[in-house]
Amino acid sequence: MKTYHTNNERLVKRVFQDVFDKYDFMNDLMSFGVHRLWKKSFIDWLNPQNSTKLIDVASGTGDIPKLFLKKINNTGKVYCVDENKEMLNLSKKKFYNIKNISWYCNNAEKLPFKDNYFDYYTISFGIRNVENIDKALHEAYRVLKPGGRFLCLEFSKVRNEILNKFYKVYSKSLPALGKFVVGKSEPYEYLINSIERFYTQDEFSEQILNQKFSNISYRNLSAGIAAIHSAWKV
Ligand code: SAM
Repeated sequence: MKTYHTNNERLVKRVFQDVFDKYDFMNDLMSFGVHRLWKKSFIDWLNPQNSTKLIDVASGTGDIPKLFLKKINNTGKVYCVDENKEMLNLSKKKFYNIKNISWYCNNAEKLPFKDNYFDYYTISFGIRNVENIDKALHEAYRVLKPGGRFLCLEFSKVRNEILNKFYKVYSKSLPALGKFVVGKSEPYEYLINSIERFYTQDEFSEQILNQKFSNISYRNLSAGIAAIHSAWKV
C-alpha cells in the first residue's frame, strides 16, 4: 500500500478522541444506516457457534460484540480491544448488564492474550487505522486457535466507474457534514483520505496471506464500498 500509516498513530488517536461522543450518530448519518446491514452480513458470514470466544479488535462502541452475543444467545465470551478509552467506555455503558464481556485498552499490534486462545478474531472498520497492519495481522494469527477464523470488515474499492464517481462526490461532502454536526471537519478528511489510500480487495487478501492465514476469501458489500475478508488459521 500506499504508506499512509507511517507515524500516524497519534493522528488516529486524536481523530477518535475528537469524535467519540458522536461516533454512533455520525455512522448512521453518513451511511444512511447501511453500516448496520453490513455488520449484520458480517456476523451472518461469521456464523458463530454457541459457547465460543471472540476477540473484537478496534471494537469501538461495541456494535460487533452486540451482534455476536445476540447470535449465540449470550452463551460465549467477548473480549473487546481498542486503544481509545472513551470509545471503550461507551461500549461498557451499552453492556452494563452483561457478564460475559470484557474490555482492554490496547493496541491491535500487541495484544495482551496468550497464543491459540480465541475461536474468532473480528475487526470492523479498524484495520485501516492501524499503523503497522502486518503486525496486527500477525497478532491476529497468534491469538487465534488452530481452526480459528479471522474476519475483517473494511471500506474497500468500488470497481464500477459510474458508481465510483457518485461515491467520490458524496465522500467529498463528508468533512462539511462533520463540521456542521460535530463542529470538526478534520476527522472526516482523515476518514476519506484513509479510505482512498487503503488496499484493494486483492491487495488486502495478499497481505493476509503473507501472515500464514489459509482459505482467504472476500465478499463485496454495496458494490465494493465495503468488503469482508475471511481467513482461517489451520
Ligand atoms: N469496530 C467499530 C465499528 O465497526 O463501529 C469501531 C470502528 S472505529 C471506525 C475504529 C476504532 O479503531 C476506534 O475506536 C479506534 O480507537 C480504534 N483503533 C484505531 N487504531 C487502533 C489500534 N492500532 N489498536 C486498537 N484500536 C485502534
